[in-house]
Amino acid sequence: MKVKLLRYTPDPELLCGAAALTSSKTEGTSDIIEKLDLEKAKRIVRRVTSYGHESVIEHASFTFSLEGISRAMTHQLVRHRIASYTQQSQRYVAYDTLGHYVTPPSISQSPKAKKIFEKTLMQISEAYQKLLKDGISKEDARFILPNAAKTNIVVTMNARELRHFFRLRCCQRSQWEIREVAIEMLRQVKKVAPSLFENAGPSCVELGYCPEGAMKPEVCNIAEIKKRFEEL
Ligand SMILES: Cc1cc2nc3c(=O)[nH]c(=O)nc-3n(C[C@H](O)[C@H](O)[C@H](O)COP(=O)(O)OP(=O)(O)OC[C@H]3O[C@@H](n4cnc5c(N)ncnc54)[C@H](O)[C@@H]3O)c2cc1C
Repeated sequence: MKVKLLRYTPDPELLCGAAALTSSKTEGTSDIIEKLDLEKAKRIVRRVTSYGHESVIEHASFTFSLEGISRAMTHQLVRHRIASYTQQSQRYVAYDTLGHYVTPPSISQSPKAKKIFEKTLMQISEAYQKLLKDGISKEDARFILPNAAKTNIVVTMNARELRHFFRLRCCQRSQWEIREVAIEMLRQVKKVAPSLFENAGPSCVELGYCPEGAMKPEVCNIAEIKKRFEEL
């Protein structure tokens, strides 16, 4: 799995800070942004978002390349609607089942499960190749491909939607693969725009409580989770 922040709005904190000040200044944003320094912009962003006025952080967008992740994961990702996506197509790219699949840790840790998993993938691969050889188009042969199939996707979200995404997908209740991706995305955006992502993370970190009711303490040790996200 590879998660890479490709591009983002230049000076995202300065821009969102200037946007926030626009509501209370007589000057226009073009003058405000010229006079605003980064530290002040960060303070404004923190203050305004702490009031719940999150629309100002919609002005900053972040684009990630997510590579070598499963179709099972991207199916969940694209449920997040306030975003833009471009995904590798199984209509145009012939799929190499044997070299390109994601194995969940629960399966790779169990020799018995791994054997079943790999045998099935081998059968799928043979059937897929046979269909292509028999003249079936890639777009139809792909109907037998597994959720484990590796894929690449590029995703753009603004900072507000990213915070929402992190709230849901950094949570222990979320599926392991999308959770790993979300945590890595959060780690990378925190580096380039810390004030936009302050306290971002699962609900227990951002809101201070679990709206779903925490899972068993050994799964959801909230104090430990908070510490982990503070240190991210
Ligand atoms: C742990 C977990 C388990 C899940 N299990 C299932 C499952 O079993 N089955 C299933 O189908 N899905 C499941 N989902 C997916 C979930 O239901 C959402 O589709 C997904 O998380 C996207 O979140 P969202 O709709 O809040 O946000 P986004 O699409 O990211 O939108 C962000 C916000 O914009 C607003 N918004 C966006 N579109 C609209 C709209 N059309 N109308 C009004 N407001 C809108 C809402 O406030 C929304 O919260 C699960 C998600 C998680 C995190």
